[in-house]
Amino acid sequence: TVQRRPLVIGNWKMNLDHVQARQWLLEYAASNNEWRHRMEGSDVMVNHVEVGVLPSFTSLLAIRDMARATALKPELFLGAQNVSELDAGAYTGDISAQMLAALGCRYVLLGHSEQRRYHPEDDDKIDQKMRVVLDSGMTPIVCIGETKLGREDGIGIDYALNQLVSAMRLLSGDDVGRVIVAYEPVWSIGAGMAPEPSVIESALADIRDFINATFGSDVAARVRILYGGSVNPGNAADIIRRYGVDGFLVGGASLDPVKFANICHLA
Ligand code: PEP
Repeated sequence: TVQRRPLVIGNWKMNLDHVQARQWLLEYAASNNEWRHRMEGSDVMVNHVEVGVLPSFTSLLAIRDMARATALKPELFLGAQNVSELDAGAYTGDISAQMLAALGCRYVLLGHSEQRRYHPEDDDKIDQKMRVVLDSGMTPIVCIGETKLGREDGIGIDYALNQLVSAMRLLSGDDVGRVIVAYEPVWSIGAGMAPEPSVIESALADIRDFINATFGSDVAARVRILYGGSVNPGNAADIIRRYGVDGFLVGGASLDPVKFANICHLA
């Protein structure tokens, strides 16, 4: 069987300028060190989890340089919160995948519900962005999840699966094996309430079953599927111990470096 490395990603949204980001990193490093001491420096344990943050574009460089200098363990990987589907040219205000890859970004978040809602980010663009991110050697983290209305109508997981189908239209099975899926019920984002761990487990199982049916068992065994929506140090342990939960996408709680380090070590 394939071992999937647990993954915790912090999504800072539109918070923390580059000066605040440096302060965050200092506090995160201190908190991380405390955890390592508690684990008696067991690097096996410490390196078990993969950790990443998604700062604003303007904070990426500061965090990258400082994270390198700090030599954190586990290494702190970086990603962006969005990208253009286009390569380069007269597209004022946009940021290309090549620019992000050049900065050393490992991930790009796509289809976050706030982008879908406020911009709007439509399904057609998301599938093109998936392609562009993979072609640039980075890993897309694609967010799917039903709204409150969808949940009340009882279409919850089908709504999310439809989003996944359209996000993956341009991908081969090999590509899909490299993708990270974040299941985020929209009604739980920033709301301080998450579904019951058993409900999360069954939603993630439905997603993996769908990938299995569409792309085969090898691909389904490789894809990492995260849960996101009001994850905090109080509920993380109960969720991560559920079968098939490969980690978390953490919004609000990731702004607090101590809470974030805590969640990473629970994972
Ligand atoms: C998110 O924005 O992806 C998220 C999960 O937010 P929060 O943890 O604040 O609910």
